[in-house]
Amino acid sequence: MADALREVVRVESGGGATLYVLPVTAFPGHVTNAVLVDHPEYRLLFDLGTASALTELERRMEEARDRFGLRTTLDDLDLVLFSHGHTDHFGGAHALAARGVPLAIHTLDARVLEHAEERRQLFRRDLRACLRRAGVGEVERLAALYGSLKQPFADLPVDRRVRHGERIGPGWEVLHTPGHHPGLICLQVDEVVLTGDHLLEGITPVQQPASLVPGCGVGAYLSSLRLLEQAGPFALGIGAHGGLIPDVALRIRQTRAHHLARLRRTRAACEARALTVSEVAGALFGSPPGYGAILAVLEAGAHVELLHQLGALAVENLDGLDDPDHTPRFRAVSDAPLEPC
Ligand SMILES: [Zn+2]
Ligand SMILES: [Zn+2]
Repeated sequence: MADALREVVRVESGGGATLYVLPVTAFPGHVTNAVLVDHPEYRLLFDLGTASALTELERRMEEARDRFGLRTTLDDLDLVLFSHGHTDHFGGAHALAARGVPLAIHTLDARVLEHAEERRQLFRRDLRACLRRAGVGEVERLAALYGSLKQPFADLPVDRRVRHGERIGPGWEVLHTPGHHPGLICLQVDEVVLTGDHLLEGITPVQQPASLVPGCGVGAYLSSLRLLEQAGPFALGIGAHGGLIPDVALRIRQTRAHHLARLRRTRAACEARALTVSEVAGALFGSPPGYGAILAVLEAGAHVELLHQLGALAVENLDGLDDPDHTPRFRAVSDAPLEPC
């Protein structure tokens, strides 16, 4: 786990914005960096944390006021922009909406807020099917665990849906970088880039198969790393977890290399005999406890999915495909190049 920031960090951009990185505890042991982009003409908050993190967010704003002379308050915000539809980023949205602050998110993730309960139920159904297909033995226990960890979130209308290339405030540019989540965006503020969960210092964002969540997947993720690389160079990256990213281009190369190595390991694991996704997860990650068991299967499934798409893996047991509980076993069949873009 990357070391979380312990105090507010201030960064000046060349275009006259002052960025305050405000680390807040979204869940026990899990810190999200909310970023206030403070400009004389526009005040934007990029990510927020959960509802339980709001008091800490207020404290961080006070810290910024005491240490750096910040005058802006949460009531002065022109917009809260969410990097993507994961609760550790948007969970506190109701409190800000109640204070009259407009909310924005990429068009592909707006549904996560607007139809939260529908999505939660559909996702749990799809997750069950995904775990069954992966050959997981304890599907119901894991699906129940998933349900128990999800914080309730009442449906909330979004005020603005943003798209790739859109400009916000004095000209800050939205970069759509799907992969970790379908509507994940980065925001370019002059020479600084806010990377949400797309690019992180010290850790890599969780992957899940596109067959579970359209718009996710390792192929989309690697393409989005390329997009960010080509949008640069940047003087600094600020991710949503962990420390600052002083060398964005280097961190992109490291993250790409991490996934290419994981793809190679996945293919190698399927060389001696054909494996289910659950067995691949075991080969890659052992048997992590609790929610980690779900994440391991999703991460392995995302890598298997891309290798299969690239023709590097093939399904060995085509018999019984019509059975809804059919669990494909994947065998390495070629040394096809592993980079899709
Ligand atoms: Zn996320
Ligand atoms: Zn996150």
